[in-house]
Amino acid sequence: MKLRNPIFRVKLSDALVESMTLAAVEAYVLGVGKKGKVSGFETMGYIWGYRKKTDNVIVLYLDRMSLSVSAKKSSNSVKPNEYAAELKNNIVQQLSPQLMLLGDFHTHPYYDLEECKSCRGWEFSDHDKRFFLGDDFLWEAADSTPINIVIAVCRLGRVQEKVGATIISECVWQYDVGEFRFWINVNVGYMHPMDGRVTTEEKGEGVFLDFDARFYNGAGNRVASHVD
Ligand SMILES: [Zn+2]
Repeated sequence: MKLRNPIFRVKLSDALVESMTLAAVEAYVLGVGKKGKVSGFETMGYIWGYRKKTDNVIVLYLDRMSLSVSAKKSSNSVKPNEYAAELKNNIVQQLSPQLMLLGDFHTHPYYDLEECKSCRGWEFSDHDKRFFLGDDFLWEAADSTPINIVIAVCRLGRVQEKVGATIISECVWQYDVGEFRFWINVNVGYMHPMDGRVTTEEKGEGVFLDFDARFYNGAGNRVASHVD
């Protein structure tokens, strides 16, 4: 049966997780090299990867990113340069034509755990959601399955032992590196037959972030299909 709404499974390469984590921490701790307020900045980048469609699942494999140098950054917003996505994508199309531009990410920095939790800092702001829905260039480049990622970051007062990442919901995971905690949240857009552009965030379902579950093996799963 073909599902009415697509189900997305989002996978991230280790290199991408590392790059986004580095970007989030650098902007958080060191800012963007301006005088005055030097820390707690948001930052953003563009993400390329691969897409695989089956009858009822669309897998988005996010492979690599390029940090945006030209975006205007502050402590409560990051505004992309209107030409950056196309410029970078033109270059990637030439150097790595096997990749497609699938989306972008940006960070939400918080002073501490309490501040981040009290405003659920890993969620997309109304501006994030509106901008994503109206990003015509991205929707076209990503062939109408674009992805938006938020990484919230804060400094921990106390660092406790943690093994692996923690799932918060189907599309949100939390992980610690040193004295920093991160939440990663994904929102995928698609075309609805009646409503036009919609997102998994507004539908409240339809995407699973396969962040730390690559060796999850469901009951009854078989891979040697030639053996009875
Ligand atoms: Zn945001």
